[in-house]
Amino acid sequence: MKRRVVIVGGGITGLATAYALEKATEPSDVHILEAAPRLGGNLVTVNHNGFTIDGGPDSWVATKPHATRLAKAVGLGDELIGTRPDTRKVYIVWKKQLHAMPEGLVLGIPTEWRPFASTELFGLDAKLRALLEPIIPRKIYSGDEDESIASFVSRRLGPDICDRIAGPLLGGIFAGDPEQLSVRACVPQLVEAEAKYGSLISAMRVLRAARKEQTGGEGEASTFLSLKRGIGDLVTYVAHRLRDAEISTGCAATRVSPLEEGDSRGLWAVETSTRGTLYADHVALTLPAHASAGMVGGFDPALARMLGAMSYVSTATVFLAYRKYDVRHPLDAAGFLVPKSENRPILACTFVSSKWDHRAPSGQALLRVFIGGAGGEHHLEHDDEGLARLAREQLYDLLGIERAPVFTRVFRFKRASPQPTVGHLGRMRRLLAQVATWRGLHVGGNGFIGTGIPDSIKQGEEIAAGIAGVRATLAPSERVTADGTTPLTLER
Ligand SMILES: Cc1cc2nc3c(=O)[nH]c(=O)nc-3n(C[C@H](O)[C@H](O)[C@H](O)COP(=O)(O)OP(=O)(O)OC[C@H]3O[C@@H](n4cnc5c(N)ncnc54)[C@H](O)[C@@H]3O)c2cc1C
Repeated sequence: MKRRVVIVGGGITGLATAYALEKATEPSDVHILEAAPRLGGNLVTVNHNGFTIDGGPDSWVATKPHATRLAKAVGLGDELIGTRPDTRKVYIVWKKQLHAMPEGLVLGIPTEWRPFASTELFGLDAKLRALLEPIIPRKIYSGDEDESIASFVSRRLGPDICDRIAGPLLGGIFAGDPEQLSVRACVPQLVEAEAKYGSLISAMRVLRAARKEQTGGEGEASTFLSLKRGIGDLVTYVAHRLRDAEISTGCAATRVSPLEEGDSRGLWAVETSTRGTLYADHVALTLPAHASAGMVGGFDPALARMLGAMSYVSTATVFLAYRKYDVRHPLDAAGFLVPKSENRPILACTFVSSKWDHRAPSGQALLRVFIGGAGGEHHLEHDDEGLARLAREQLYDLLGIERAPVFTRVFRFKRASPQPTVGHLGRMRRLLAQVATWRGLHVGGNGFIGTGIPDSIKQGEEIAAGIAGVRATLAPSERVTADGTTPLTLER
């Protein structure tokens, strides 16, 4: 008998889980439950008047292989695109002006002295302080010891680099506060770099040289990858490649409960809003942790508390389309970032049609403004018109765009950006250990281990491997957990 798997959540984590299960040697009966009327979760692409609008994520980090591999596997290899090489610079707002970030930054760490020495973003003191980085003693963490991104970067390079570059760049990925976010969870590459090389600058130089080598010395490969027709194609193609999975959209799971050991219906009952109760040997909760918390409270209040303790913030993206001749700024960059110290209601702006080809018709420009996040969620109380107005005011102030946009479009992401705060990895270890005490229960996705599309896909694939490693059709007495060692018991 095939193992029965219910995947709760039809975002990219859930879809990657289902896809990996179909590729496993032993087939499973897979049912995906998605509360929304469409699949994809945060991944949403809308086509409007010749514009391709990625409402949420617009790309993934190229160095993490999982998303690229999945895209190729489902037939999107020829659709992959990198950012345009001529507009890879990024501006930083500093004292109400846009300043180009110095060239040669890798993960916010300077690797070239000349552009760094000549930037107006920092005074001499800050530059000299950064120069000392290679001789700052390395920190060795013991056990789950952790520190914030702000503390880490300030310790190594000084507070100004943190405020004006690393904070907005690294904190911005999470729409989070760099004073709160865990460096070990959010940017483990920097922690590894310190441990291995003793200096971030040295480590990032090595990394940059390796990237250049990859392209045979012809510039640097794009840090980010996307798809010609928008990121939504990843969702569509994965969903279309699923041959056997049953997909129920507009169907929320409302409660998950363990069944008695030996129950022939399986190990789990999943109550749903429109499909009655489903029975399964495995349940994968690929939801934001707060949504999973509500699902498990009935049988494991401690797990529900752990899940509920993971914090998420809300954001909105406002898209504004302009005729190019209405925009005086050359839009010669990927966009700009706004440091917290500038006290503005926006986090960043992407010059979408400069950053990517295939996003706007000729003669038109598409901009995306980020609002909300840690410390800025109150701005989201505005209605869509209010958010668009706020975005326009900022673009007028910073880019001098006076004319009205051709159209605007607002996307809201409620409690969708996880905040892996200091101590996150330790808390995750305990949470996953608690999950592992329940045979056939799996959690993962946005905000658990890593963030972003590649990490979500990786977690989906790991969940599938965990499921495929368990022979749920064995007699209860023979059953073993995914690691193949511990006998199962639901009574703990
Ligand atoms: C504005 C924004 C921009 C981002 N930009 C990037 C980027 O550029 N690059 C990048 O790599 N990452 C980016 N991310 C992060 C990326 O979107 C996530 O890592 C990824 O989408 C997480 O996928 P997921 O499937 O785990 O979660 P989700 O996308 O949240 O999917 C979970 C799904 O579960 C469904 N659901 C919830 N409750 C239930 C229920 N009870 N029953 C059934 N279904 C339920 C939801 O409707 C949703 O569809 C961004 C995120 C946001 C919010």
